[in-house]
Formats: sequence, structure tokens, C-alpha cells
Amino acid sequence: MSEPYQLRGNRVQPLDQKSIEFMALKVAQAFNINRRNRKRLDKSFEMLIDFSVTLNVYEDKEWNFLTRGHFDPNTMTISVPNSIYTLACQGEKEALSVMLHEMGHVFLAHRAILHHSSSAPQKEEDAEWQADEFARVILEYMGYTTKQMSFDFIA
Ligand SMILES: [Zn+2]
Repeated sequence: MSEPYQLRGNRVQPLDQKSIEFMALKVAQAFNINRRNRKRLDKSFEMLIDFSVTLNVYEDKEWNFLTRGHFDPNTMTISVPNSIYTLACQGEKEALSVMLHEMGHVFLAHRAILHHSSSAPQKEEDAEWQADEFARVILEYMGYTTKQMSFDFIA
């Protein structure tokens, strides 16, 4: 028996790696996020509004979330500090991983509802694992290596 999986975030409908990859590549294509324009992504992120997603960029000194990015499914709002947003637009890998992680919550349809189950949670049901996988797939599609990355997002 292996150790039970420790959820890092909300328990959501399970998605396997293949399904996440499929969704992530669809989103990358829809947003024109690719290797060629990875250093100028502001136009891509501005398209979020077309999907009814509000992108809220905070002044760094006004940022008071515990994590580097935040998604509120009730208001469909992605919030990031300005430094993360600016660096992500320029293709800085860590900042980009934050933006893509939050977009993962959006497009993998993570809701605020609790998923009740009496069985032990699996990695595939962890909203944070799913969002990290989503970000990793797009980063690799863009030509970044992600082997050494350790995601440490709690929300
Ligand atoms: Zn998250």
C-alpha cells in the first residue's frame, strides 16, 4: 500500500493526464500561445475577457494573497501581481507558469463546490495537480523544459 494522496487544493472531478493535455493544447492554440510569440504574450492574456474571465493585475505592494496567483471561480477572476503579469508577458518561465496555472483552473472548470466522496482522494482529483499539469503541458509546447520545476502553489 502506498501513502494516501494528500490533496493540495479542492477535490474536483478527476481528469487524467491525457485529458488535461488535450485541453491545454486547445487553450494554447485558442490564445495563440506558442514558441514563436512567447516573449510577447500580452495580446494572448488580453483575450481572457473574450471568455468572460476578468484579469485583475494588482500593484505589487497591494498584493495580499498568500500565493503568486489566484483564481476566484465565483467571479471568474484571475488575479496576479503586476510583476508576475509583466514577466509572464515577456515569457519568463516561472511567472508564465503562474499565469498558465490560473488559466488551468479556468479552463479545467474548477468550481468552488465540494466534491463529496467517501473514497480516498486521488492525485487526478486535485485541482492544484490538474492546474500544474495544464501549465506544464503548455510550457513544454512553448519549448520550455519543465523537468526541474517544482510547483508550489496552494491556491
Ligand atoms: Zn491553483
